[in-house]
Amino acid sequence: MNAPLITPRFRIAPSPTGYFHVGGARTALYNWALAKRLGGTFVLRIEDTDAERNRPEWNQGIIDALAWIGIHADDSTFEGPYFQSQYAEHHVAEAQRLFASGTAYYCDMTPDQIQERAKAEGVTGYAGWSRELGLGPGPGRVLRFRVPEGSTVVNDLVRGEVTFDNATIEDFVLLRGNGSPMFLLANVVDDVTMRISHVIRAEEHLPNTPKQQMLWEALGHEPPVWAHVPLLVNEQRKKISKRRDKVALESYRDEGYLSDAMVNYLMTLGWSPGDEEIQPWATMQDAFALEDVAKSPAFFDLKKLAAFNGTYIRAMSVDEFVAATEPWCAQWREAHPEAVWNAEHFAVMTPFIQQRATTLAEAPGVVDFMFLPNPQFDETDLSKAWAVEDAAALVAETIAAFETCDWTHEAMKTAFDAIADAHGMKPGKAQAPIRVAITGRTVGPPLYEAMELLGRDEVLRRLRALPGGVHVA
Ligand code: GLU
Repeated sequence: MNAPLITPRFRIAPSPTGYFHVGGARTALYNWALAKRLGGTFVLRIEDTDAERNRPEWNQGIIDALAWIGIHADDSTFEGPYFQSQYAEHHVAEAQRLFASGTAYYCDMTPDQIQERAKAEGVTGYAGWSRELGLGPGPGRVLRFRVPEGSTVVNDLVRGEVTFDNATIEDFVLLRGNGSPMFLLANVVDDVTMRISHVIRAEEHLPNTPKQQMLWEALGHEPPVWAHVPLLVNEQRKKISKRRDKVALESYRDEGYLSDAMVNYLMTLGWSPGDEEIQPWATMQDAFALEDVAKSPAFFDLKKLAAFNGTYIRAMSVDEFVAATEPWCAQWREAHPEAVWNAEHFAVMTPFIQQRATTLAEAPGVVDFMFLPNPQFDETDLSKAWAVEDAAALVAETIAAFETCDWTHEAMKTAFDAIADAHGMKPGKAQAPIRVAITGRTVGPPLYEAMELLGRDEVLRRLRALPGGVHVA
């Protein structure tokens, strides 16, 4: 079972929760980068011992989320998934081995008795009261680890040497009163059995690490290399959590974040690939080192993530962008049965959409007016349109000019610039009523290009139909 370590073995050990936490994704990527570069193995172990949290679709969700960030189960670096619940007998057997060797002992005190005695003796928690009673197993008796005296030094590649005074660590429970294994025991026995050489995980597990290291040693093994990567915090510097923040990797996937952008951004949470943070995976895989990971919490900055995504979106070719946005465009079409979609027009507008969309999901909305029978007017923007000086005259003169000008965006621009000029106005400012008439909004993609595609008749119809003002046509 315990073959010599030839190649490093990494792992992630998520508990199924129904979604994959972005922090878990970052940890997975750090493990994956090292496993790939060092020719090692990346083990996926699903810690599914909580029967209530054990649904097959959740396990598939973990595998799908990993695949989305480039960690594919069919890659030769990948091993698993293993399911912790299948190894309960082995966990118990290993605990019995510790009992036989005297490093674990049975305790028959109930939580109430422990509380009472602790109160009476003025101590906190369980002070090893059953250590020397020589109890054997029995109903309701828990098996506790006999924490040795002294201190435990955890060598952590991120945090350095962290020393824990063993006096602060109580004799923790390995097997519950009903004989079932506790998390710490299962976690360590699995890591030992799976010959894990590197445990890289979130900082919140650091307080468990001295106990786990003691267990490794008691089971007769050299502890692994430990590395605890910094917490992810929100704008208020609070640990990001399901209650407060959007932490599910899947929700970013569903909103149209690109996996390459997400991967790149996640890698930078606590680590920097150099002066230029936007980097392809291969470069990050080559450069990533645990020694360079920061100790301080990493800000999970949604604005920065959006900026990363925008950068990746703009780097796509038209064909790539059209293909990538299609699922969201399909959703949009479904939600707007009245719309007449024109794939060719969407493709022509793509470079402009790429300038404006920070997610793929936003893409159809940037040019929705081109496909809807009528623009959806934003009330504020409509007022802004009419607040422009000479708005009615500008619209009327534009209608007249557009009835006859060449139907090219250049010709429309020339015609409109002349109208604005005659009113002593900057074209950008004078354009607002025209833009709102065509698109429903004051901001959007280049107007003349869009109008060229919409066609003369439709543009004139919309200009004549601009609601809410007195204008002659
Ligand atoms: N199952 C634990 C969790 O999801 C993982 C513990 C570990 O990585 O050692 O928090």
